[in-house]
Parts: sequence; structure tokens; C-alpha cells
Amino acid sequence: MRLVFVGPPGAGKGTQAQFICERFSIPQISTGDMLRAAKAEGSLAPELVATMAAGGLVPDEAVVALIEVRTVREDCATGFLLDGFPRTVPQAVALEAMLSKQGSKLDVVLALEVHKDLLIERAVLRRTDKRTGRIYHLKYNPPPADAVLEHRGDDHEDVVKKRVETYEAMTAELLPYYAALGLLRRVDGVGLVEQVKARVFEALGV
Ligand code: ADP
Ligand code: ADP
Repeated sequence: MRLVFVGPPGAGKGTQAQFICERFSIPQISTGDMLRAAKAEGSLAPELVATMAAGGLVPDEAVVALIEVRTVREDCATGFLLDGFPRTVPQAVALEAMLSKQGSKLDVVLALEVHKDLLIERAVLRRTDKRTGRIYHLKYNPPPADAVLEHRGDDHEDVVKKRVETYEAMTAELLPYYAALGLLRRVDGVGLVEQVKARVFEALGV
């Protein structure tokens, strides 16, 4: 199962990705997580740190290089879920070339759809447990008392708004691109986590 998961910031990709990855025994590959890890260890170029903080997109070459190295690791032999990549058509073209070189191709592109008003609330109240990586929400999915909570620096209203705009501008081309290839399946991301999970599994035929 080689799957691309697309959706605006705060749509619930990370939450649903955990279920999909468990079901198909595939790793979740998030360029956002990889970039944040690089930043934390001090190896991310300062201009990319600034771009992320402002809610813009880092250059295609930077994320393509990360994916190129990651997708050839052994745990990707049975597939992978790409979360937050590709975000632009040039990234999608680079991914296709990369997979074709490895003798494989994408199976499906899942687009999680959530309207703008909900995205702000979902992202601003998102918290992650540092120890487990689990995603919580202060209102909809409260963390346990012993969680060590992390609040992303870009999960503040003004930056979330900017990220949603960036998403709309840059991915307006990406979805038609995948639709034309016959790979795109749209899933309604509004509802309880369990309801969305059922729709996601149905879209994947499981
Ligand atoms: P993304 O990876 O798309 O940015 P996340 O999976 O991190 O999104 O979810 C964003 C926030 O919304 C998190 O706080 C998460 O707990 C919460 N969330 C996810 N799915 C739902 C849902 N169906 N209903 C309410 N809140 C949700
Ligand atoms: P989101 O909650 O917006 O889906 P991510 O964790 O996927 O957030 O990404 C965080 C930030 O990392 C983005 O705002 C962007 O600056 C950068 N980023 C992640 N993936 C990509 C990508 N494929 N192309 C360009 N920039 C990216």
C-alpha cells in the first residue's frame, strides 16, 4: 500500500494516519515531522526555520531529498503513507519519478476534506504528547493527566490561517493532477474521529 494523504492543516491527517498505518503495517512518513526533527537537532537551515514559522512552504528540493532517503529504507518495502508530501505538482512529479526508478508506483491519494472554520479550532487546540507522539485536542480529545504536552509553534491562529491559505493556493493544482491520474479519493473529514475512520477505511476498500 503506497498512499498519499492530502488535507489542510488540522484536518485530522495525523490522527487518521495512525489508524491506516496500523491496519496496513506501513510506516507514516511526515515531512512536517522530519523538518521539525531536523530543526530540533539544529540541522535545518535558518531560512527554512523562518519559512516554517511563518506558515510558508519550504523549497521542493528540500522535502524531495528527505523523501528520497526515507522511502528506500527497509520498513518501506511493503509500502508507506506519505503525510504532508507532496504538496505541489513538482513534488508529485519528483515522487513519481522516484518510485518509477524503484519499480513501484502510488496506489491511492486520499484527500481529507474539512472546511476552514473547523481547521482553526482543530489546529489551535492541538497538543501532542512528547513521550508517545500521540495527538490530542484540548476540547475534542483531551490528553491524560500525565501527558507531557507540546504545543507547536505554528499552531497559533494567525499562522494556521496563513497555512490554510498556503494549502489552498499550492494544492489547488495538486488535487486535479491526481484526479486526472485516477488516483484521487475524497473523504469527508467532518464528524467524530471514529466516523471519519470508517469513511477512510471504506475509501481504502477495507
Ligand atoms: P493534521 O495532521 O491534518 O494537521 P491532526 O490529526 O493533528 O491533523 O488533527 C488536528 C487536531 O484536531 C488534533 O488536535 C486532533 O486531536 C483533532 N482532531 C482530529 N480529528 C478530529 C475529529 N474528527 N474531530 C475533532 N477533532 C479532531
Ligand atoms: P500541517 O499541519 O500544516 O499539515 P506539517 O506538519 O505537515 O503541517 O508541516 C509543517 C510545515 O513544514 C509546513 O507549514 C511547511 O512549512 C513545511 N512542510 C512540510 N511538508 C512540506 C512539503 N511537502 N513542502 C513544503 N513544505 C513542507
